[in-house]
Amino acid sequence: MNFSPKDKLEFKTNPARYIESAIIKYAAKSPLNRLSDYNNEPVIEEPLVGFADGYDPIFNEFKNDSIIGNFHLTPLEAFKFYSEKQGKPTVKDRPTALSVISVGFTLPKKTRQSNRPKSRLAAPMWRHAYGQAFMLMGETLSHIVSLLESAGYRAVAPVCTRPMSMPIIRDGLPFTDWSEKHAAYTAGLGTFGLNTSLITPKGISTHLGSIITDLTIKATTRIYGDLHDYCLHFTDGSCGKCAAHCPSGAVNTLFFQAKKCLDYTMNDLQKLSRELEGELKPPDHPMCALCQIRVPCEACIPTVKSAQK
Ligand code: SF4
Ligand code: SF4
Repeated sequence: MNFSPKDKLEFKTNPARYIESAIIKYAAKSPLNRLSDYNNEPVIEEPLVGFADGYDPIFNEFKNDSIIGNFHLTPLEAFKFYSEKQGKPTVKDRPTALSVISVGFTLPKKTRQSNRPKSRLAAPMWRHAYGQAFMLMGETLSHIVSLLESAGYRAVAPVCTRPMSMPIIRDGLPFTDWSEKHAAYTAGLGTFGLNTSLITPKGISTHLGSIITDLTIKATTRIYGDLHDYCLHFTDGSCGKCAAHCPSGAVNTLFFQAKKCLDYTMNDLQKLSRELEGELKPPDHPMCALCQIRVPCEACIPTVKSAQK
């Protein structure tokens, strides 16, 4: 990639602003950001972008079993591991600076509305948009990684690892060694809901990805103090609407049972979608996401008033 002199100056003056703008522009122009079967509606809203210091001590706290577990990588460990996985030069040093760029792609109102009447399987528009948002994330992050590399920095996006890393199995459940949700939390993009999805300023239907780079970028200020600050259930014991909508019983007001969600998605919904629509074609995949619609955190940070609607 070639940087024009103007680009070089803007990048050097304010790398955070330059990168955020590059992500927004790239996603807006990508053909993957259009749903050709649905009037060319956009797949996502304008992306959310946040930045974290890769040496923020909070990443070590995620290794605690009560949050994720010791298998979860710090940004430096992930930088080394995923660089090697993706065939990039081995990272042997401890870079002076390490930054995490976190990106959120939120599904727009029309897509969310398509899922409102559903009670078991997500609407076709939602399923298609979700799968396409996943592809668009990979393409956008690859573009930003190339941009950083052409500016002389090392960079890696864990979601671009193909084939995907084998998940870590704990208590019969798959876990990843790099949690995009925790990276986004650290980068100021939002806090966790009762259903364990991230509540962002644009709502909970947000697909996340990240880049780790040795470029120095000023971290985004976290305006919350706790993992669950935005969720009404954790702040005042109210709401619980995501639990009420969950057809598998995975979400309840005491805890989230990931196995129930996974079993429902992988077994019941696979079978149901085959019965209703035959074999699904990529990027569609069976999913439900009913805990993300008709809830006060659907499109914003919820308030007590929004929960009463
Ligand atoms: S629906 Fe209510 S309880 Fe569930 S995540 Fe959103 S705010 Fe929290
Ligand atoms: S995705 Fe569906 S099954 Fe899983 S927690 Fe949400 S509503 Fe429940």
